[in-house]
Amino acid sequence: MSEEQELGITESKEHSPGEWYAEVVQKAGLADYAPMGGFIVTRPRGYAIWEQIQTHLDGWFKDTGVQNAYFPMFIPESYLEREKDIVEGFDPEVAWVTHGGNEELEERLAVRPTSESIIAPFLAQWTRSHRDLPLRINQWCSVVRWEATETKPFFRTKEFLWQEGHTAHRDEDDAWEETMTRLDQYEKLYEDVLAMPPLKGRKPEHDKFPGAHTTTTVETLMPDGKSVQAATSHYLGTSFAEAFDITYVDEDEEEETAHTTSWGLSWRAMGALIMTHSDDQGLVLPPTLAPKQVVVVPIWQEDTKDEVLEYAADVAAELDEAGVRVHFDDRDHRNPGFKYNDWELKGVPLRVEIGPNEVEDEELTLSHRPDGESITESRDGLETTVRDHLDEVFAKLYASAEETLEGEIREATSREEILGTIGQHGGYVKCGWCGDEDCEEPIKEAIAAEIVMVPLDRDEEPIHEECAICGENAEETAYFAKSY
Ligand code: AMP
Repeated sequence: MSEEQELGITESKEHSPGEWYAEVVQKAGLADYAPMGGFIVTRPRGYAIWEQIQTHLDGWFKDTGVQNAYFPMFIPESYLEREKDIVEGFDPEVAWVTHGGNEELEERLAVRPTSESIIAPFLAQWTRSHRDLPLRINQWCSVVRWEATETKPFFRTKEFLWQEGHTAHRDEDDAWEETMTRLDQYEKLYEDVLAMPPLKGRKPEHDKFPGAHTTTTVETLMPDGKSVQAATSHYLGTSFAEAFDITYVDEDEEEETAHTTSWGLSWRAMGALIMTHSDDQGLVLPPTLAPKQVVVVPIWQEDTKDEVLEYAADVAAELDEAGVRVHFDDRDHRNPGFKYNDWELKGVPLRVEIGPNEVEDEELTLSHRPDGESITESRDGLETTVRDHLDEVFAKLYASAEETLEGEIREATSREEILGTIGQHGGYVKCGWCGDEDCEEPIKEAIAAEIVMVPLDRDEEPIHEECAICGENAEETAYFAKSY
C-alpha cells in the first residue's frame, strides 16, 4: 500500500457502512479503541468537536435558567433502590464497586448509569418553598452502562460523555413546558449546528425511561435508512419527587409534591454527525462545529516561495484576527496534494489555495469540502467572503441531510407492508397501532425494526383506524424503523 492509501479511507460508505464508519473515526483522528471492549479513547480532534457541541448547548441552557453543578460518580445502592423503576430498568447495565482498596464496602456503590437517584435527594434539600422553584441543575459528566448490544464508537459505548439536566417544578404544566424547552433546544442543536433535520416525538409507553411519565425524543435518519435516538427529554411526573421527598410549601402554607424532569444528550450526537455528512474521502464537518473551519494551503516553487508564503500567512492572520478558526499549513516537507487529502480526511469545511497566480491577481481559490466545488474570489473583503462560503457549505450539508429524510416516511396498513417497506427502503414507516407492545414483537423478530416514536400530541388522531398488525382499533400512529 502506498503511504496515501494507508492514510486514506479504503472502505466504502455505501457498501460497508460499519467498516467505513470505524475507519473514518480512527483515521480522522477522532477516537481509538480502548483495551476494554466497548470503551473508546477520545483523541483531541474528537474532543474538540464535543467541546463545540458543549459550548452551544451550555450557552442555551444558561440563557434559560439552568446552572451547572457536579455530583459524585457513585450512587449508594440504597439510594438507587428508592425509585423502583430505575433499579429494574438499569439493573442489567449497572457496574458496581464492591471494594475500596482491599476492604469490602459495607454498601455497594453503583457507577452512575444516570444520576436521578443521587441528584433528587439534593433537589429535595434545596426545595423548601414555592419560591425555590423552578430549580434547574445540569451536569456535564460521563456515565457507565454495561450495554449488552454491540457497541460502536460514540453511538453506543459502555462509558459515554453527556449532559444530564435535572429540574423540579411546582406543577405538571411547568414541568411539561421545561421538557419541551429542552427538546426544542436539542432540535435546534441538530438543525442549526449539526446541519441535520430531526423528527420530534414521544417514546411508546413500553420504551419510556425507567420511572418517567413521558419520554420525548429527537430522532435522526442516517443515510443507510436507520434511525438514531438523538437525545431525550423526560417528564418524570411525581415519581422521583415522591421517592425522594421533593416537596415545597405553597402560598397557602400547604405542602405540595414537586414535578420533575430530566434530559440528556450524549456524544451519540457525534456518531450521527459523522455518519450523516462524511464520505469516502473521510470526515465532513459543518463549519459551526469544525475545530478548524478553514485551512490555508500555499502552493509554491522555489522561485515563488517567499511571496506566496507571505501572502498566504497574511490571509491566515487576517482570518484568525477576525475570529475564524483557521489553520495555516506551511509544512515544508509535504506537497499541496498531500495536504489536500489530509485536510479532506480530517473534515476541514473550506480550503483556501494560494499560488503565484492568486498572489499576482490578488485573489484566492476556495474549495468546499462536501462537493469539491472550487471558486476564485477577490482578496478584498476576505472575512465576508470566507464567512459567506462557510454558510454555503453549511447549507449544502443541511440540504443533503434533508434530502435523506425527505420521502423516507412511508405508510403501511399491514404487517407484510411494514416488513416489505422497511426491508426494501429503510426509513420510517408509520401506521395505525393499538398500543400493545405485542404488536411490535413480530416486526422486531423479523427485521429488527421497532417503534422508535409516536406523535408528541397524545390527542392526535391515528393515521389509520385499525392497527396494521392486529387489526384492532388503532390508538395512535406508530413510527417503525431500524435503529442504531
Ligand atoms: P437516557 O438517559 O437513556 O434517556 O439517554 C439519554 C441519551 O443518551 C439517549 O437519548 C441517547 O441518545 C444517549 N445514549 C444512551 N445510551 C448511550 C450509550 N450507551 N452510548 C452513547 N449514547 C447513549
